Amino acid sequence: MNSQDTLLVINAGSSSIKFYLYGISAERELSPILGGQLEGIGTQHSRLRVRDAQGQTMTERQIAPRHAADVRDAQEVVGTWLSGHLSGSPLAVGHRVVHGGPDLHAPVLVDDAIIEKLQSYTSLAPLHQPNNLAPMQVIRERLPHLPQVACFDTAFHRTHSAVADRYAVPEAMYQEGVRRYGFHGLSYEYVAQRVKRALPDLQGGKVVAAHIGSGVSACAMLDGKSVDSTMGFTALEGLPMGTRPGRLDPGIVLWLMERGMSHDEIQHFLYHDCGLKGLSGIGNDMRELEASDAPAARLALDYFAWRVAEGIVGLGCAMNGIDAIVFTAGIGENSAGMRARIARHWEWLGIRIDDARNAAHGPRISTEDSKIGVYVVRTNEELIIAQHTLDLVSAR
Ligand code: AMP
Repeated sequence: MNSQDTLLVINAGSSSIKFYLYGISAERELSPILGGQLEGIGTQHSRLRVRDAQGQTMTERQIAPRHAADVRDAQEVVGTWLSGHLSGSPLAVGHRVVHGGPDLHAPVLVDDAIIEKLQSYTSLAPLHQPNNLAPMQVIRERLPHLPQVACFDTAFHRTHSAVADRYAVPEAMYQEGVRRYGFHGLSYEYVAQRVKRALPDLQGGKVVAAHIGSGVSACAMLDGKSVDSTMGFTALEGLPMGTRPGRLDPGIVLWLMERGMSHDEIQHFLYHDCGLKGLSGIGNDMRELEASDAPAARLALDYFAWRVAEGIVGLGCAMNGIDAIVFTAGIGENSAGMRARIARHWEWLGIRIDDARNAAHGPRISTEDSKIGVYVVRTNEELIIAQHTLDLVSAR
C-alpha cells in the first residue's frame, strides 16, 4: 500500500503513546492496518508493542530508558519504527488532544498558532495537554509539511446550552474560561454514531452514554448531540474514577491547603491517589478489586456503583427523561459485574437487566420489559480521529 493512502492516529498520555495506522480505500473507507503502544515512558520498563489488524505481533521489545525518558523521546522511537515500516509519510496525522478550550468547537489543522493556543490551555488539563502536544511538536519539527489535525475531547460538548456550560460563579469568571467543558467527547461522538447506525429506534431519542474506564464520565445526548456531561472544568469533576475522586466538596481542597499541602501535592493527590485506588487502598484496576475479598475493595465497588448510577440518571434532568443508557470503555464494556451493581440502583425506575445478555456483553443487556433500554457499545475514539483527519485533509 502506498503510504499516502494511510493515516496515522496518535493518542499520547503521560506514560504511553498509542498509535494506529489506517488504510484509506478509493471510496474513502478507513480500515485498521496496525496498532501499537510504547508504554512505561519515563520508567525503567519501556516497551514497544505493535500488532497488525489481525492481532499478530509485528514488534515487541524493550526500549532503553534513555530513549523513552519522556513523551518527546518516545515519539522519536515511534517515528523511527514507522518510517522503517512505511515507504514514505502517511497522508496526515490525527492527534487526540484533551482540551480545545472555549474557542475550538471542531477538529483543526495544526499550525504554530494552533499549537500556541493549545499550550495556553495547559492549566486546564495539566496532566494531559502537554503530553498530547509533544508528539505534534516533534512531527512538526521533523516533517513540517505533513498535515496534522488536532481532535478535542471537549469539542463534542460545545453544543451545551448557556446553563449547562456554567458553574454558579460570577460572570467574570465564566468569561475568563471557568466553564463546564466536558471530556471524553471523541468516545461519545463514536457512541452517537453507533447508536444512529445500530439502534435506529433510538434516533432522536434521549440517550445517556457512560464512558467508564480509568477516567469516568457520562453524557446526556439528545438526538446525538451532547446537552450535558458529568465532567466540567477539568477531568476531575463528576463520577468516581480509577485514581480521581469525582465529586468532592471544594471545602476538602481548602482543608488540604490549611494542612500545608502545596498546589503540586494537591494536584498529585487529586489525579493519582483518590478514586478506586484511594478508597480501596489496593489499586485502581477494576479486575483486581472484583477478585478481592477485602472489605475495602467491596466498599470501593459499592461506592463506585452508587455514585456512577446516580450520576447517569441525574443527566435525565437535562432531557426530561431517558430512553436508553449506553455503557462504554474498559469497565463499561467488560465488567458485567459492575454493570449489574450499577443497575441495582435503578430498579425503582423499572430498569431490569437480563443476566444472560449482560454476561454476553450485549449489545442490549436490559430485559424486553425494562422501562429504559440498557446497552453496551465498544468505543473507538481512534476511528473518530481518523475520520475527522481524513475529512479535514480532503477538504483542503
Ligand atoms: P480504559 O481506560 O477504558 O482502558 O479502562 C481501564 C479500566 O477497565 C481498568 O479499571 C480495568 O481494570 C478495566 N477493565 C478492563 N477489562 C476489564 C474486565 N474484563 N473486567 C473488569 N474490568 C476491566
